[in-house]
Amino acid sequence: MYPDTKLLIDGQWRTSSPDERSEVIDPATNEKISTVERAGSRDLIDAVSAAIRGFELWRNLSALERSEVLRRGAGILRERIDETAKILTIEQGKPLREAMAEINGAAEHLEWAAEEGRRAYGRVIPSRRPDVRQLVLREPVGVVAAFSPWNFPVTIAAAKVGPALAAGCSVILKPSEETPAAPAALGRALQDAGLPPGVLNIVYGDSRMISKFLLGQKTIRKLSFTGSTRVGRELAAVAAHQLKLATMELGGHAPVIVFEDANWKRAADILVERKYRNAGQVCGSPTRILVQASIFDQFVDRFISQAAEIKVGSGLDPETIMGPMANARGVFTMEKLVSDFVSSGAQVALGGHRGNRPGFFFEPTVVVNAPVTSRGMNEEPFGPLAMINRFEDESEAIAEANRLEYGLAAYAYTSSTRRSHLFTSKVEAGILCINHEGRGLPETPNGGVKDSGHGAEGGIEGLDAFLTTKFVSEMAFNDT
Ligand code: NAD
Repeated sequence: MYPDTKLLIDGQWRTSSPDERSEVIDPATNEKISTVERAGSRDLIDAVSAAIRGFELWRNLSALERSEVLRRGAGILRERIDETAKILTIEQGKPLREAMAEINGAAEHLEWAAEEGRRAYGRVIPSRRPDVRQLVLREPVGVVAAFSPWNFPVTIAAAKVGPALAAGCSVILKPSEETPAAPAALGRALQDAGLPPGVLNIVYGDSRMISKFLLGQKTIRKLSFTGSTRVGRELAAVAAHQLKLATMELGGHAPVIVFEDANWKRAADILVERKYRNAGQVCGSPTRILVQASIFDQFVDRFISQAAEIKVGSGLDPETIMGPMANARGVFTMEKLVSDFVSSGAQVALGGHRGNRPGFFFEPTVVVNAPVTSRGMNEEPFGPLAMINRFEDESEAIAEANRLEYGLAAYAYTSSTRRSHLFTSKVEAGILCINHEGRGLPETPNGGVKDSGHGAEGGIEGLDAFLTTKFVSEMAFNDT
């Protein structure tokens, strides 16, 4: 049921030239389920050549023709949703319901890109002379190197590949080796939709070697990366040296401010649902929940009782609400953070342990009254861990929200318009949601500030990231 994954280079799915592959592990069982090819330098050279040829061909098609391929690709992805969602659940761990939502989300990203690519308008700037025309043209930036992670292997890949292709770029995509087959299904859907060879190439292997190789190529004009701040910083430095454009979607440590005037019961219910989705491995996952003192105890009781109800198990079991973490590293990080909470005097009010079964399970965990010096209050948890602390006044909550260098998502719950305005104007984050979580849609920009990166995916900004601007000043001249 779960396939081996090959490299997609110049329209062919092929084995790697060093004949090397790594194992793919099912996070629900910790068993080897298949293999993924590891590209060598010969494969990467071929991928770059194919992408250069693909770019020349693809950029010269009309925006309408490109749009039709993307739209057909979205349709094929949806037709294959049952099979692809199962693959995604097996390699990543998330419940099948979430995997289906992810595939639908990826199809929506392709559709949005298909629509928006037809509106990559330039403009005419009124000239100072009657015989001069001034035009602004938007053109595809060129060959793109895109690195997508393992937490949303299909949606994040689609959020990069969709707008890049819509803009007329070609792409070399490097998904995570831990979750290779679901992004390969995205590639296959686009291929079957008529994407010409070389326009999308997919490689796997040694991340460091591949990124070093690709970012060292002059012909690659743009880097798009989603992953940790640590790796993002390294890649951005290499890209900057080569003066490549870069979109960096990095980590987060999202604050949530629950003011005393909020519908706090509803807030607790929403936050439990959002916190433990994808076992907390979401860059905008609510992590530092700050609750005003007068409603703190009731809020914590409700949050804990809801979180305790979450059924943990294999993502393939229809009863499962939360699956395993995607890899063993995540479980070690959780254990390390919990142990530090205990020694720093925080209260572990729920969970705090790995599951007593094979696989990378960790219990839904709630920590209350964590000192701001504890590791978890500073390092991104990226797992099923919620920290709930109290605050007395607004300025204290805003200061805590802005304390870290992360600036991806931030949330507030309040019935006061004044507090809502205060929150949106004072909190340093790229995405702010009030009284719900409404982010990550293809039509809205998704990106951070500070150490959470720069640039955005989604919205018109997502297409803009793959376009360059050419200014043309043309004087009418007749030499006859
Ligand atoms: P990591 O830093 O080892 O890797 C993060 C991602 O970058 C992975 O997808 C990995 O395949 C890729 N990667 C690693 N080294 C690379 C390199 N030299 N060149 C190109 N790609 C490279 O972290 P991890 O243990 O896999 O994940 C945990 C951390 O990653 C979390 O703290 C979180 O911040 C971050 N993360 C963020 C997102 C997101 O959606 N923003 C997604 C996944 C992981």
